[in-house]
Amino acid sequence: MKPELQKSKFGEKVKYKHLFGPVPSRRLGMSLGVDLVPYKVCSLNCIYCEVGETTIHTLERKEYVSVSEVLDELDHFLAGNPELDYITFSGAGEPTLNIGIEEIISHIKENYPQYKLALLTNSTLLSDEKVREEIKDIDLLLPSLDAVSDDVFRKINNPVTSLKSQDIIDGLIEFKKIFKGEIWLEIFIVPGMNDTKEELKLFKKVLKQIRPERIQLNTLDRPGTKEWVVPSTRENLKRIAKKLHPLPVEIIAKFKSRRGIASYSDDVESRILETIRRRPCTTQDLADMLGLHLNEINKYLSELILLKMVTSEVQERGTFFRAL
Ligand code: SF4
Repeated sequence: MKPELQKSKFGEKVKYKHLFGPVPSRRLGMSLGVDLVPYKVCSLNCIYCEVGETTIHTLERKEYVSVSEVLDELDHFLAGNPELDYITFSGAGEPTLNIGIEEIISHIKENYPQYKLALLTNSTLLSDEKVREEIKDIDLLLPSLDAVSDDVFRKINNPVTSLKSQDIIDGLIEFKKIFKGEIWLEIFIVPGMNDTKEELKLFKKVLKQIRPERIQLNTLDRPGTKEWVVPSTRENLKRIAKKLHPLPVEIIAKFKSRRGIASYSDDVESRILETIRRRPCTTQDLADMLGLHLNEINKYLSELILLKMVTSEVQERGTFFRAL
């Protein structure tokens, strides 16, 4: 069931503003996305970001999107008792920047306890004890940590100036102490930057302190915000995994198809292909034309690039995708 095709009790079509998918996620299976910030509010501006350049670069927490609107949409969507693997806070920026996240988590836990809750976060707010308390009732935390040394952190993640990598690491260590769920920590490998011998040695040390249940290595599978960022090879990811051994490392990068995931929609795939067959488009063009969320478009484009059905080209207005 697609959110944008649901009907309200009055019979008209409903288009959700804050929910998207369910998307076919390699890590989470059938995942309903909940976006708590508008495009694009984030405390980082990562060089590999698939969503695009951060336009509101901030650590300020506020109600970026209306909590009551999010709750209404969730009530409406979940009333149909849809089959889902996870409800996931993710989207066009950093979800913990929305000050209402705790209220939304409590609402889902109280009213829909059958669903598991996941949070995709860049980890930057975990140094705040209040944020750790607000999110501790989720089932699965998917934090990013792309660097241990502060200079590499700045080069890859372009943080708000006051952020320090050690504070983020300390926040993750503290969160693990109060959290009953699992932590699957993602490291996005940018070759030549965070895969050096020195950085991997530092990673090994702090990962032993953070103690995530899984450490997931990812890399670029379609162009990011910077043209010069290249993906890591599978061999390099295997080398890194070996270096981090015996920590619980797995490679989650592009090499596996999403087509086997139940929420993979042939209809969405065909609509994207039909559109870019007519003319090359950016992800934003596709999101606007098809009425889909950027993250959803990104997931399908990654799959189509993997299958060599789509190619991309960086131009002045952004990265354009066209069908092969
Ligand atoms: S990758 Fe995530 S954390 Fe980095 S800029 Fe994009 S939305 Fe923000």
